[in-house]
Amino acid sequence: MKKYRWIFIVSAFLILAGILTVLILRYSKRQKTLPEIVKMAENPDEPVTKYGIPVDSFTIVYDTVKRGHTLSDLLTPYHVNLATIDKIGKMSTHSFRIDRINAGQPYAVFCKEDSASELVISYLVYENNGIDYTVYDFSDSVYIIKDKKPVEFVEHSVCGTINSSLWMALKNQNADPLLALEMADIYSWSIDFFGLKKGDTFKMIYETARVEGCDLFIEGIIAGYMKHAGEDFWAIPFERNGQMDFYELDGASLRKTFLKSPLRYNRISSRFTNSRMHPVLKYRRPHRAIDYSAPTGTPIRTIGDGVITLRKYGSGAGYYIKVKHNSVYTSVYMHMSRYGKYQVGQRVKQGDIIGYVGSTGLSTGPHLHFEVHKHGHQINPLTLESPPADPVPDNLIDEFNTVKVKWIERIEAIPCDTTTVS
Ligand SMILES: [Zn+2]
Repeated sequence: MKKYRWIFIVSAFLILAGILTVLILRYSKRQKTLPEIVKMAENPDEPVTKYGIPVDSFTIVYDTVKRGHTLSDLLTPYHVNLATIDKIGKMSTHSFRIDRINAGQPYAVFCKEDSASELVISYLVYENNGIDYTVYDFSDSVYIIKDKKPVEFVEHSVCGTINSSLWMALKNQNADPLLALEMADIYSWSIDFFGLKKGDTFKMIYETARVEGCDLFIEGIIAGYMKHAGEDFWAIPFERNGQMDFYELDGASLRKTFLKSPLRYNRISSRFTNSRMHPVLKYRRPHRAIDYSAPTGTPIRTIGDGVITLRKYGSGAGYYIKVKHNSVYTSVYMHMSRYGKYQVGQRVKQGDIIGYVGSTGLSTGPHLHFEVHKHGHQINPLTLESPPADPVPDNLIDEFNTVKVKWIERIEAIPCDTTTVS
């Protein structure tokens, strides 16, 4: 009997040891996953979801679309069958091809391991651009969701001095050089950005769209100041009738308007039309201009500030001049008897005399043929929509002045890093 007792003790010990081993193994396995959980808790800022999908329950493969690759090329390595890919293509609408992907765009594949340790796709997320993405959900049949990453608008300020170019000055201040385009836009009526000079300074408050900690693009300028050729150019934001616009310190709009006409004329002899009988050529062709009949020698004035970009003789146009007002508008004056004092490349102010009425070129009598080009297309000068240029009205001037003081304070407080020379 003693013998059996020993067998019993030994086997009991072995069973206990076995249970203990299993428990230790289980515990150590849990230990392996524990640090991960602890890590998550330590970094609450770390995203637990990506594209709204919990990252910790998937194996994620990040990549970018290769040249010439289609959605099918991204999916077939994960054993997505052709019938499913075909089904995705059929979900496209006329305006949006759901299966179209572009080379260089990032994508992520969310996988789970199956019982045979093979990666099985749950989601494919394709980034259409920096903000929009498309989720192809394969967890049950196929389901497509379009979504956006959260966009945050962040305010920045920059102070700089131009040495070589505005572009370089912005780069040297670690600001997005594309801000130069925004600046050129708001100041297009008052500053010729091709004529910026060494020593010109600027202070800008602007806003960027930030996604996942990266500034994607400039949303716009909020307020600004430039000193150009010794002159101050403020851009004070002020809202009127629900519309935000920029104003100078005295409440004048930063946008300038054009003169109603470039001369004192007797009558309009030919209007803007896409088809008219040409008086000299005797066939129909468009006349995308206004003809002002006036005596020879009548002064012709530029309708707005700008630069003379062309001054020459054309067989049809006679002596003619082109004035570039800004990046959008150009005006053209033809059949002059002679030019004013301004040469090509010279700046002109609204109302400056650039030439005199004549009948040079293809013309039946003294008149001014006048064209306005908007983004390179001839538009009807008589219906030219001058940008709103109304100053702040009297009843709002007190409110404007209060707002203005705050903006000046804020702009003046922008620190200038004088150690980096641009
Ligand atoms: Zn004409």
